[in-house]
Amino acid sequence: MDFQLYNTLTRQKEKFKSIKEGAAGIYTCGPTVYLYAHIGNMRTYIFEDGLVRAMKFLGYSVKRVMNITDVGHLTSDGDTGEDKMELGAKREGKTALDIAKFYTEAFFKDFNSLNCLMPDVLCPATEYIKEMVDLVATLEKKGYAYRIGDGIYFDTARLPDYGKLAGKSHMDGIREGARVEVNAEKRNPADFALWKFSGAGEKRQMEWPSPWGTGFPGWHLECSAMAMKHLGETLDIHCGGEDHVAVHHSNEIAQSEAATGKPFANYWLHGRFLIMGETGKMSKSAGGFLTAATLPEKGYDPLAYRYYCFLTHYRKQLDFSWEGLEAAARGLDGLRALAAKLKSGQEGEAPAVDREAKYFKDFSAALADDVNMPEALAVLWETLKDNSISAPQRLAFAAAAEEVLALDLFRAEAQKELPAELAALIQEREAARKARDFKRSDELRKALSDKGVVIEDTSSGTKWKLSRG
Ligand code: AMP
Ligand code: ZN
Repeated sequence: MDFQLYNTLTRQKEKFKSIKEGAAGIYTCGPTVYLYAHIGNMRTYIFEDGLVRAMKFLGYSVKRVMNITDVGHLTSDGDTGEDKMELGAKREGKTALDIAKFYTEAFFKDFNSLNCLMPDVLCPATEYIKEMVDLVATLEKKGYAYRIGDGIYFDTARLPDYGKLAGKSHMDGIREGARVEVNAEKRNPADFALWKFSGAGEKRQMEWPSPWGTGFPGWHLECSAMAMKHLGETLDIHCGGEDHVAVHHSNEIAQSEAATGKPFANYWLHGRFLIMGETGKMSKSAGGFLTAATLPEKGYDPLAYRYYCFLTHYRKQLDFSWEGLEAAARGLDGLRALAAKLKSGQEGEAPAVDREAKYFKDFSAALADDVNMPEALAVLWETLKDNSISAPQRLAFAAAAEEVLALDLFRAEAQKELPAELAALIQEREAARKARDFKRSDELRKALSDKGVVIEDTSSGTKWKLSRG
């Protein structure tokens, strides 16, 4: 079966051909850790997790690399405005390092609660300054970099195919828009900073010496330097949200390809945005947004949100609504009830799933068709309800599908009956355990015990029972 992916670079679905047979290197742009990640950001991470899991299911060995942006991302995606990390530090009266640590932890708590697999390599930008400086030096040697008052910039005019990811009309739009560009020293409006200098007399919290002067890396630089360091000069797949196509990813391509003379990534995948009905796009800077951690407070299992995301293909915009989330939560309850019914009365291990069965092939075909999760879910529903298939086989299939969907299909039914507040504490504790934060996990065990809930960690997950009442 061909594995097809929609490649933003060629604007079509293509048969995936990996550089190394049976293996895939995937780079996914990670969070800027100056604030909580909202559920819009999480839609992109859920899409990427679904991609990684689907590829593993289809037999690939996958290496996923994700960065943590802890320096250099300015308040505009261009090269103007304040560094978001320094802004966060000022806002909260903490150091930029503390801000990064706090929001990185918060991010992974949410990430875990959504059953996203930990990437194989996590790279905070501040730990790769040397690699970034080396990359700028290479670009300078090859004549792609020039110096102006506030930094070293990439000369986009030197690269004939600059902007190929976004397409010509898109790039024309950027050039138009860039007429109001504040930095008149740049040679071309699309040129971008590789290295920015600390301002005269300014002492930034995060700055490093470099051959060009003390300063900090441009935001795009980190992804090029870290992706190539961990995955080689050409990656199989590079992912991110749709907002990155025109600027961030176009600039990653420019500086990487100028430096190596090779294609930077063979397949570019972009998730469309989650938007909020009246206000439009959900953004961190606009404030007032929802996080995965706030969902249990509103009575929702974060995995209901994961399920909600999978009901819409990642290349379609998703307009968030509480009604939609509620319907998804009911749907997930229904799936879990079906799984529980199949499980009841079945002793011991489920048999091996029948890979020749039509439902198994249909499920795989849905995943192989540009990771079509809505279709994969439809196959799962249909199969679990199909009485012509034996219960043990349906159960085996549900277990196989769970490897990809990761919806806790076999979560103990009884857990639903716990008040939302207690269920949230249990989930928080599970996330703390997964993140190996045992101190927090013990605190939460104590808090639950004070409320009469006894926690038991078993090989098949956390179980609970009421100690009274
Ligand atoms: P950031 O932390 O802002 O760098 O964004 C992290 C990831 O979330 C990137 O891949 C963005 O493209 C993505 N993203 C940002 N806003 C949304 C949204 N409303 N819906 C889906 N993905 C988003
Ligand atoms: Zn990136």
